Amino acid sequence: MNLIILGAPGAGKGTLSDALVKEIKIPKISTGDMLRKEVKDNTPLGLKAKEIMTKGALVPDAIINELLKNRIKKSDCKNGFMLDGFPRTINQAEELDKIMKELALKIDLVVNLVISEEIIVKRLTNRRVCKKCGANYNLVSLPSKKEGICDLDGGELYQRADDNETTIRNRLQVYAKDTQPLIDYYAKKGLLQDVIAEKGISDMVVKFKKIVADKKLK
Ligand code: ADP
Repeated sequence: MNLIILGAPGAGKGTLSDALVKEIKIPKISTGDMLRKEVKDNTPLGLKAKEIMTKGALVPDAIINELLKNRIKKSDCKNGFMLDGFPRTINQAEELDKIMKELALKIDLVVNLVISEEIIVKRLTNRRVCKKCGANYNLVSLPSKKEGICDLDGGELYQRADDNETTIRNRLQVYAKDTQPLIDYYAKKGLLQDVIAEKGISDMVVKFKKIVADKKLK
């Protein structure tokens, strides 16, 4: 199954895709994670992306499209993949359509995570991420067992540079302007399924599984 997970920053795209990787055994492709790795490794791309990401703006489509194209062509994607954080603009969605056509593949499902802005801001300011494996925690709703330490690998937890209130508000504006039009784009293609994302991870997984079963997707 080739799956796109859409949703505002903080809706839970990363958390849901991490949970789904265990269930359906297809790789998760997160452009945000890929960019953060480039930043951490101080690559030329990382150096360009760092400031843009700290402001909460979008990295230019041309860079992201190239990054994504190279990733989807890798052999681990041949039985399916899930996209977290891509596409984020109509241009990226159109580029994805082209790539999929070239590879004789198609998108099977677009899950749209629906959540209020108030909950998003609360979630993101309390988000903590493992430096080693990227696992997400939340000081209020999903704390690690030991404060500041990842349950999975003992890695140190940190707060992302873009998880402060000013940047979060900016990311939400960017989302409303550039990314929300994708909801319509995929609804018109008959691929969109809304999932309420305000309750918690297990609720999202149950709803996701029901959609997949109803649509007889594999
Ligand atoms: P979130 O969805 O919580 O904002 P991500 O980890 O998906 O977090 O993205 C973090 C930042 O990385 C974005 O604010 C943006 O600057 C950059 N980014 C990630 N994916 C894309 C993309 N597809 N196009 C442009 N910029 C992106």
